[in-house]
Amino acid sequence: MSGLKLNRGERLVLATHNHGKLVEFQDMLEGFGLDIVSAGELGLDEPEETGTTFVENARLKAHAAAKASGQIALSDDSGISVDALDGAPGVYTADWAGVPRNFQNAMQKVEDLLIEKGVTAPHQRRAQFNAVLCLAHPDGRDTIFEGICPGTLIWPPRGEMGHGYDPMFMPDGHQKTFGEMTAQEKHAWAPGRTGLSHRARAFAKFVEASL
Ligand code: IMP
Repeated sequence: MSGLKLNRGERLVLATHNHGKLVEFQDMLEGFGLDIVSAGELGLDEPEETGTTFVENARLKAHAAAKASGQIALSDDSGISVDALDGAPGVYTADWAGVPRNFQNAMQKVEDLLIEKGVTAPHQRRAQFNAVLCLAHPDGRDTIFEGICPGTLIWPPRGEMGHGYDPMFMPDGHQKTFGEMTAQEKHAWAPGRTGLSHRARAFAKFVEASL
């Protein structure tokens, strides 16, 4: 969607039903003067994530919300890819938490698989969080923004903040897990900065292009 800019006062639908992501987006979008509403608040259905890549799933979610609301929508598809598990859980990161979601179990599953493989040394426990944002217009145009945050998986999990797999992920260059960081530390984003988390890094590109 080259050239499309969101103006102050314009409505933006956040195409997510994930509370943790929603809060992070609301935090980062504060101050831009947009009229933010979530897909949940609009009562929109959550589309099935049938894609096999983050980009496909981000597109599915953003276009579904833009079409159903008639407004511009921003989605996020994200997940954690563990090197020693050949990139798993990747696009299936949320699924590993089961229904209803239990991220303690999901983290335990990752840890059990690593232990099965004898993966204990920090340098063997490399992982990255990926985030793909899709900004979609109801007329079908879209733009994709990607962010990656590399780090190490630690055990046992540490910290009560954040969401999902945050307590077992220590981003490179830090001694705290995402679960031990405030939202401000985790994003480390401000206008003109790159940010720390995968979502903040993708968000920085979105801001540059669209706000
Ligand atoms: P999906 O994008 O809805 O498929 O879900 C992605 C899943 O990845 C979420 O349910 C979280 O468990 C996990 N995830 C994505 N971003 C983060 C993050 O910033 N911290 C922790 N977990 C995350």
